[in-house]
Amino acid sequence: MTADVKTLIDRYVRDVPDYPQPGVVFKDITPLLAHPAGLATVVDALVEPLQGRGIDLVAGLEARGFIFGAPAAVRLGAGFVPLRKAGKLPAQTLAESYDLEYGTATVEMHADAVTPGSRVLVVDDVLATGGTGRAAVDLIRRAGGTVVEFSVLLELGFLKGRERLADVDLRVLATV
Ligand code: AMP
Repeated sequence: MTADVKTLIDRYVRDVPDYPQPGVVFKDITPLLAHPAGLATVVDALVEPLQGRGIDLVAGLEARGFIFGAPAAVRLGAGFVPLRKAGKLPAQTLAESYDLEYGTATVEMHADAVTPGSRVLVVDDVLATGGTGRAAVDLIRRAGGTVVEFSVLLELGFLKGRERLADVDLRVLATV
């Protein structure tokens, strides 16, 4: 089933121009999720190379990283850690902020979510400028975790986000 994951992503991730603001082409994964084999195929492709590699935790980035990260955790026999936008987590958090074109954004994780020595897979839907991924990796490392891999469905290659993740094993299922 994983053989055609790239084709599925190419066909079923929809471009929505000028969302959420003029000039941005939003990559909408909802048609892929609605396809009967969409989610299963993506989760298969995410977990396949990581079976037997001792993944303790899957960290999913809010919100679309939750959709792929949670079933990946189940398949890997790992725990799941939500990485959330500022102010959403109830207990004590660690936070990392990063620059946007206008202003900053913050990613938070519960301070006790990743114990030192944990082997962590980080999952998100889209890699754009790399700011979100960078913040996620830095959070997990601050907690003493090892980022085994940062996996995304789709890389927007022209934004060169991978340059900000040069010290991370990055895996992308498709690039545009
Ligand atoms: P970045 O921090 O620039 O790499 O942006 C990645 C985060 O923003 C991911 O959580 C994506 O879900 C979201 N994102 C950024 N750009 C897009 C886009 N063009 N389409 C869909 N999601 C995007």
